[in-house]
Amino acid sequence: ALPYAYDALEPYIDARTMEIHYDRHHRAYFNNFVNAIKGTELENTPIEKIFAGISKSGDAVRNNGGGYYNHVIFWDNLGKGSSGPSRELSEALAKEFGSFDKFKEAFSNAAKTRFGSGWAWLVMTPEKKLVVGSTPNQDNPLMDVSPLKGTPLLTIDVWEHAYYLKYQNRRPDYVEAFWNVVN
Ligand code: MN
Repeated sequence: ALPYAYDALEPYIDARTMEIHYDRHHRAYFNNFVNAIKGTELENTPIEKIFAGISKSGDAVRNNGGGYYNHVIFWDNLGKGSSGPSRELSEALAKEFGSFDKFKEAFSNAAKTRFGSGWAWLVMTPEKKLVVGSTPNQDNPLMDVSPLKGTPLLTIDVWEHAYYLKYQNRRPDYVEAFWNVVN
């Protein structure tokens, strides 16, 4: 379930967008993912393990599994009123990017410049380094096919369905507004 009401992120992300995004887009990915793995060994495989070997699966598992999982992280990353990073995370970000604002700039830039549909990410790499990047379509940094690899810590959905009703083609405005509702 969505951990807050559809209108909880107003005025930055509008209730109508949240309702359609969660109840139609996300639900469709979930249902299609469940159908794609039904009756296969993937039904009993942890999703992270499915992603680690996603190159062996077909497009239905890759696109819908990613679509389901990425949105779960995204909903969790959002909340009413931005809470700011913990001291530990803040220090780690400053160490890697120079400052928290510089990190925000890098993350926003990754979101604004992802061509077409996709996601921007802050990940912790297997070498314990904090890295910002983006993935196309419904790919994510846990997938073996992704050049960006690591554990997702923060993500933003930059598919047009995430912002078009309120922001139309102004993706940069949506990305800037996102910072007001980061959990
Ligand atoms: Mn989406």
